[in-house]
Amino acid sequence: MKPLEIAVAGAGPAGLAAALLLCRQGHRVTVFERFAEPQPVGSGLMLQPTGLSVMAALGLVEPAVARGKIIRRLEGRDTESLRRVLDIAYGGGGAGRFGLAIHRHALFDILFDAVKAEGVAVERGFDCDRTEPGDRAIRLVSSKGVRSAGFDLVVDASGARSRLRAAIAGASEPCPLPYGAIWTSVAFSGETAGDVLVQRYRRASVMIGVLPLGRPFGDGEDKAALFFSLKPGDYPAHQAAGYPVFHERIAASFPEAAPLFARAGGFEAFTLARYGHHTVASPVGERLVLIGDAAHSASPQLGQGANMALLDAAALAAALRGAVDLTTALAGYAARRHFHLRVFQMLSALFTPVYQSDSRALPLLRDRLVPVLAGVPPLPKLLGRIVCGTLVDPFSGAGIAEPDWREVG
Ligand SMILES: Cc1cc2nc3c(=O)[nH]c(=O)nc-3n(C[C@H](O)[C@H](O)[C@H](O)COP(=O)(O)OP(=O)(O)OC[C@H]3O[C@@H](n4cnc5c(N)ncnc54)[C@H](O)[C@@H]3O)c2cc1C
Repeated sequence: MKPLEIAVAGAGPAGLAAALLLCRQGHRVTVFERFAEPQPVGSGLMLQPTGLSVMAALGLVEPAVARGKIIRRLEGRDTESLRRVLDIAYGGGGAGRFGLAIHRHALFDILFDAVKAEGVAVERGFDCDRTEPGDRAIRLVSSKGVRSAGFDLVVDASGARSRLRAAIAGASEPCPLPYGAIWTSVAFSGETAGDVLVQRYRRASVMIGVLPLGRPFGDGEDKAALFFSLKPGDYPAHQAAGYPVFHERIAASFPEAAPLFARAGGFEAFTLARYGHHTVASPVGERLVLIGDAAHSASPQLGQGANMALLDAAALAAALRGAVDLTTALAGYAARRHFHLRVFQMLSALFTPVYQSDSRALPLLRDRLVPVLAGVPPLPKLLGRIVCGTLVDPFSGAGIAEPDWREVG
């Protein structure tokens, strides 16, 4: 195939990784971002060995490790009994696997600097509203009615609230989940273990977490992400009761985290995140392809969303590399991601209510079964592979190989 003119809608992890990979393959790429100054919203996230392998393929894993924090274990305890009801170690089945907690700003900076260095054009302040497909080209139309130049292909990486996917017949919209969370990041000085994601639960209706994020801003200060699970509709009542009441509750349930939540200072420091779940049946339309959260979203309970976004970008680049024409390439992309994506979307739908719901039976089962089963082979390895995103092969479809992590970590 001759080099293509490609428009990428959205400068999130999916869009920036796709822009970089496609530009390096010789295509002419323009990124369209709604913000006048591209910027991520929110706190930290976990890159798993899947997403990290894409970062390695991009030559960006070292800067990510330098600005993130290597996480070796996930641990969750019941707030009252302190019984361990989640204990998953990385390393199952791979050479020195680990997770990398990273602030969204650090991940964005690393990808955006690489995109700029590669000479990719970036159109800022362009809020992509719809596409106009034609015989020879497709155009983006902004919410102000501005029409872009013609492109051979539009890659929709504009996230879970994409408006472009409406052009694909039958494309599903995210179904809101009952629970979301408030998130922030604060200075961290070892209040919890530095290489562990620590969570406290009361049934499935309370979840408080601390995720060490390393030194994301190069100012020498360690940070940690804090999160508190809640129903978005209940947030105004928390705010009305006041931060001291909320803080007292944290101190009673998770004393080690109390100084961190005190450092946040008030609800103004937090961002409310609403979660949704959807998987578009076929992410391919006329000269249009969906990647990342535009194609599928889930609660972050399994920590896979950004990783799947990066895998999508790699799979799209791999499909375009070998194909004879655009139609074959896009069908190839959908096929490459089909199985891995569906397995992890299903696992996320199964696991989320165990940790975030009003159910009394599911957390009871969790609190009784997990401590027993967590020690029974091969369950620890299987759980490790679920968290790593490697329960089924993510790599061949994405056209990448997993590095030997012992050389990186
Ligand atoms: C609180 C929280 C915690 C999470 N934790 C994890 C985790 O630990 N691990 C993990 O893997 N995932 C996690 N996720 C999920 C992860 O953040 C997403 O899956 C990931 O960011 C998806 O990347 P994306 O590039 O597809 O979309 P996004 O990150 O949403 O990026 C979309 C981009 O498109 C731009 N945009 C949006 N609309 C338009 C428009 N109309 N026109 C132009 N540009 C537009 C946006 O400004 C943004 O730059 C978490 C999510 C949340 C909310």
